[in-house]
Amino acid sequence: MAELTKHDDDVPSPIDRRDFFRGAAALTVGGIAAATEIAAPEAQTAAAPEPAAAAQQLEEQTQSAQRWIGRDPADWVKPRPGVDHNVVIVGGAQSGLSIAYGLKRKGVGRVEVIDRAAPGEAGIWRTIARMHQLRTPKTLGGPELGNPALSFRAWYETLNGTTSFDALDRIPRTAWADYIDWFQQTTGTTVRYRTRLIEIEPQGDLLRLHLEQDGAPRTVTARKVVLANGYAGAGGPNVPEFIRALPPNLWTHTTGNIPFDALAGKIVGVVGAGSSAFDAAAVALESGAAEVHLFSRRSYIDYPALPSPQAAPAPAPDRGYPNLLEMSYELPDVVRWRNFVLGDRRVASVPFDSLERAVAFDNFRIHLNSSLSDVAAAGGKVTGKVGSKSFSFDHLVAATGYRIDLPLQPELKRIHEAIATWGDRFKPSPGDENAAGAAHPYLGAGFEFLPRGATGAEYLRNIHCFNLGAALSFGIPVGDVPSVVDQPRLISAIARDLYVEGVDVAANQRFVNTPLTGPSSAPYEKAVATRDAA
Ligand SMILES: Cc1cc2nc3c(=O)[nH]c(=O)nc-3n(C[C@H](O)[C@H](O)[C@H](O)COP(=O)(O)OP(=O)(O)OC[C@H]3O[C@@H](n4cnc5c(N)ncnc54)[C@H](O)[C@@H]3O)c2cc1C
Repeated sequence: MAELTKHDDDVPSPIDRRDFFRGAAALTVGGIAAATEIAAPEAQTAAAPEPAAAAQQLEEQTQSAQRWIGRDPADWVKPRPGVDHNVVIVGGAQSGLSIAYGLKRKGVGRVEVIDRAAPGEAGIWRTIARMHQLRTPKTLGGPELGNPALSFRAWYETLNGTTSFDALDRIPRTAWADYIDWFQQTTGTTVRYRTRLIEIEPQGDLLRLHLEQDGAPRTVTARKVVLANGYAGAGGPNVPEFIRALPPNLWTHTTGNIPFDALAGKIVGVVGAGSSAFDAAAVALESGAAEVHLFSRRSYIDYPALPSPQAAPAPAPDRGYPNLLEMSYELPDVVRWRNFVLGDRRVASVPFDSLERAVAFDNFRIHLNSSLSDVAAAGGKVTGKVGSKSFSFDHLVAATGYRIDLPLQPELKRIHEAIATWGDRFKPSPGDENAAGAAHPYLGAGFEFLPRGATGAEYLRNIHCFNLGAALSFGIPVGDVPSVVDQPRLISAIARDLYVEGVDVAANQRFVNTPLTGPSSAPYEKAVATRDAA
């Protein structure tokens, strides 16, 4: 077996999670009372520090850095009568937490973060992400939005030492999940868990949100909604019809709970050849599957170039975005469209370690140029063909990605018809048509939906779409770690709208027209030589 990259179990465990949170919970952003000294740079140990001391150092340095950056500004947003929340963020995972932090630092109060998941299960990192390491480079900025004390690197190096960080190929998945938990604790963001947005109902320019909280229906009113609801948040998982038609116990999309334990000794088919396909195949093989067959429509599997046999594999080129990409929104429509079409044609790059992990097994088979046909359920199995070759599987995994299709997103049931899409706003030249692109929402510069028609549905500008649906407008898979570079736009747009809405022109006029009066002249009265020059 070729040497594989680290397994989750091999990932250096920073410190016991309970001890760690005991420390982290004591922190609040901005509200720092105790004057503590930040650790001197040399205290940023190269070697792995002793866990309790490291946790203490993390706490102290974070408090100091938070004190230096200053308290969170007071909430300046003028309340609007009859409204429960200025902003509701749907999704309490990395994007939602980061946006909540950004709004707090902007002085936008009455922000509610909801997540349908139970505590500890929000996001993907402990559920459907199956790789050992993130696919993105370890040095990218993340949810800390430029505050270095809250970065992954600050967290990791303080707990594990700089040598340990230097030795990382990329960020271990479970370390990233722990870091996100710490980020939430440290920024003091409360998430209302087990609370699902069912539907958005417009009410004038306001948004009435139908929720299900712990199984009970509830409604709240918000001025702004941010959809930070993940890759599947603008249409759901992409499941080909021939798979959807199978009995549900015979297949699972990679976003689902694949029954790996039950696949020991079984034959598994994987449809798709992206990173998630290889990760699912690897876990099935590690769980004892008898055979795993992976089917790719394309003639090759793409992976990052290996510069030399000695050099470490680089991250996938499509996962390491230079900061320039934060300006992609400004590109002409035709350029944004063509970039999307090009991306759609490309074979997605699979991290080398994900490839190696599956290929290491002798019972793993890759079928290139192979689209499964004649797929059917028979006798508790899935049968299918590629050309004249027949296959039979105990379980099929759909590693077929996500679709952008607003009518399929339940939360948008009442409003999707009013939302402008790229199909409405952009006419590609012949040969450049792309149905998937046309289905993407055509978003404003603050990630807001725009009305399809020239008039009406203005409430849509209060719904900000920070999910994969924004990929075409912003030129980046939105939700990816690198897409945090675009969050300041969204945060500023929300703040600006709330600020402008709070301007009371009549009150301003009264204020301007009020005669200016000075305070008492008592402190300087004895020096007054002239009171009226006339
Ligand atoms: C398998 C996989 C691997 C990835 N690997 C990388 C990587 O290595 N590097 C990288 O940069 N990016 C990666 N990504 C992309 C991206 O970083 C992740 O998808 C990341 O989880 C996005 O964070 P998010 O907060 O936007 O969405 P998510 O983490 O998906 O969280 C969305 C949250 O919204 C909640 N939610 C959804 N609908 C509702 C609703 N109606 N009501 C209430 N709550 C709701 C969900 O419960 C969830 O907690 C990967 C994506 C996948 C799928």
